[in-house]
Amino acid sequence: MPEATTIHVRFPDGREETFTTATLARDALDRFNPGAVGSVLAALWNGVPVDLAFRLPSDGSLAPITFEDRVGRDILQHSSAHLVAKGLVETIPDARPTHGPPTDDGFYYDFDVRPLVPADLDAVRAAMDRSVREKDRFVRREITRAEAQALFSKNPHKLRYISDIPEGELVSVYDTGSFTDLCRGPHVPSTEWLQGVHILGFSAIAPEDPTAPALQRVRGVGFPTRAQLDQYLKMRAEAEARDHRVLGTKLELFTFVDEAPGFPIWLPNGMVVVHELERFVREHLEAAGYQEIRTPLLFAQSVYETSGHWEHYREDMFLSEVEGRTFGWKPMNCPGSMLIFRSRARSYRELPMRLAEFAPLHRFEASGTLHGLTRVREFVQDDAHIFVTEEQAEPEIRTLLDWIERAFSTFRLEWSCELSTRPAKFLGEKEVWDKAEATLERVLKASGVKYRVSPGEGGFYAPKIDIHIRDSLGRPWQTGTIQLDYQMPLRFGLAYQGPDGQLHTPVVVHRTILGTWERFFGVLLEHVAGRLPPWLAPLQVRVLPVTDRHSAAAHGLVEELKARRLRAEASSTEESLSKRVRNAEIERVPYVVVLGDKEVAEGSVALRVRGSKENRPLSRPEFIAYVHDRVTKREFDP
Ligand SMILES: [Zn+2]
Ligand SMILES: [Zn+2]
Repeated sequence: MPEATTIHVRFPDGREETFTTATLARDALDRFNPGAVGSVLAALWNGVPVDLAFRLPSDGSLAPITFEDRVGRDILQHSSAHLVAKGLVETIPDARPTHGPPTDDGFYYDFDVRPLVPADLDAVRAAMDRSVREKDRFVRREITRAEAQALFSKNPHKLRYISDIPEGELVSVYDTGSFTDLCRGPHVPSTEWLQGVHILGFSAIAPEDPTAPALQRVRGVGFPTRAQLDQYLKMRAEAEARDHRVLGTKLELFTFVDEAPGFPIWLPNGMVVVHELERFVREHLEAAGYQEIRTPLLFAQSVYETSGHWEHYREDMFLSEVEGRTFGWKPMNCPGSMLIFRSRARSYRELPMRLAEFAPLHRFEASGTLHGLTRVREFVQDDAHIFVTEEQAEPEIRTLLDWIERAFSTFRLEWSCELSTRPAKFLGEKEVWDKAEATLERVLKASGVKYRVSPGEGGFYAPKIDIHIRDSLGRPWQTGTIQLDYQMPLRFGLAYQGPDGQLHTPVVVHRTILGTWERFFGVLLEHVAGRLPPWLAPLQVRVLPVTDRHSAAAHGLVEELKARRLRAEASSTEESLSKRVRNAEIERVPYVVVLGDKEVAEGSVALRVRGSKENRPLSRPEFIAYVHDRVTKREFDP
C-alpha cells in the first residue's frame, strides 16, 4: 500500500480540511457535517458522483449527495433497479439482465427472459424484501476486461457492454449479496436505503435487433423510506384521477387523432379557455407597452443560418421543400421579430421596443416522448422579444418578475426561478455571457424570489431564467423563460442610432411567462382537477328550470347574463332536477341556479356554487352582480 500523504479537501461552504489519502468519502463528509450523515447517500468528488466508500486519492472538492438532489434521486432509482434484477435472477435463474437506468419518474430494468407473469413479480418482491431486511451492501470491485468477460460469459448483452468499454480501462462491477452486476456506479451504501422500492408493472419491449426475442421490462420507483413511498402512491392515484388527457375528453376541451400525433385539436370548449387566457395576457401586454405582431410560420433556411438555429436546432425542426428551396417551420418566434426590427432604421427613442407574438410554433418531438398537452409538436407561447439598450435590460427584466408574480398568483400557483448559465456549445464571447449572467443574477437577488443556479443549462445563444411552478399536488413544472441575448442582434446586424448619433447594437430579452398555452393549460387542468376558475370555465352558469312552467323565466335569466358577457345556458326539463344538478357537477360548471315557483314569483334564484351542497337564495340582480364580479376580478370560487 502506498504511504499515506496529506490531502486538502474543499467542502461546499468553502471550508478546507486536511485528510490523509484513502480516507473514505463518508468519513470526510462526516467531519464536514456530522448531523447530516444519515441523509447522505453518495458523494460528489470534483463534480463526479462517487460511492460513500470511495477513497479520496488527492486534493479536491467534496460535496454530499442526498435524495433531494436530482443526481441522488437517480442513484437511488438505479440502485433500486439492481435490487429488482437481484430479485428476478433469484426467481428465474436463467434470466439475463440487460440494462436498468433511472427515468424521469422512477427506473426500469430490461431482462432477456421468458414472458413474465404476475406470480413472478410476487416472488421478485419477496426476494427484494428479504434483501432489504438483510441490509445487503453495494460493494464496488474493479476487475480486468478478461475477468469481466468470464464473469458474464452467459450474458451476451453484458458482453456487448463490456466490449464498448475502452481497451485498457478497468471494468467495475457491484456485488449486492450474491448478485453481481456490471455497473459504473455509484450506488447507495446498502439495500437498507431501498425500503420504499415499489414495482409498478412489467411489459414486453421490442429489442434493438428485430430478429431477437422481446425483452421484458420491469418498471418501478424507489424511495428511502416506506412513508415516502406511501405518500407518492397516494399522490399518484390523485394525479391519475385528474389526468388532463382524461379531463380534456370528458369536458370536451381538446382531442388528438392518430393522423396528427402530437398536434392538439382544440374543441369549442377548449378554445373558450384559450381565448380567455389570451385576453388575460393581452390586457397586461397593452398596459405594459407591448405591440403585437405576426410573422410567417415558414422561413427559408438562410434565416435560420443567421439566427443559429440551423446549426444548433435543426434536428428539432420540421422542414419543407418549396420550389427547390428548403424552408423550416419556425420553432421559436425570434427570427421574425429580428427581421421586423431590422426592417427600417431605428432610434434609441423607440427603445425599449416590446414585440409580442402568439404564432403557432412547431418542434419535432420523437413520437415516444409525446404526452397529452404537456409535450406536443405544435403550440403557441405568450412570447415577446424586447429590444433594449444595455442599460435598459436590468430594469426591464425586473418588471417581468412583477408580472410573473401577478400572473401565477391569479392561478394560485407557486413559482420559483432557475438561472441557467453558459452551456458547452455556445455562441459568442465568454465575457459577454459573464456580463449577461451577472445581470440576471442581480435581478434575482434584488427581487428576493426563490431561485437556484443550473450551471451549463443555458440556451445556445443566451443565459436564461427558467420559471418553475408547483401545482396543487406539489409537482414541479417548467413554464416560462427569460433570456438575455447579446448574440442574435449581432448575427442579424441589428442597430439603432443612439443619442450620440452613432449606431449601436441592441440587446434582446426573449421572454415567455405562462410558456405554451398547451402545456400551461394541461398543468392548470390537473392543478384544479378540472374545476377551472369561473373566468376560464367554458360555461359559467347553468340555469335549471324546475318544470316547463319555469323555462321562459330561465331563458330570460340566460339572456340577462349574456348581456353582461357571461357564458350561460338553460337546461331542458327532460331529466329530473337532481340528475341535472349532478350532471352540472360532473361537467364542473361553476354556478348552477334553480328556478321554481317561489323563485319566479319573487324574482330570485337559488344559487349552488360548484362543490357546495347548499342552495343560496339571492335576488336576480344580486346574483348577476355576484357572478359578474367574480369573473371580471378573475377570482377563484370558493
Ligand atoms: Zn448499475
Ligand atoms: Zn426568442
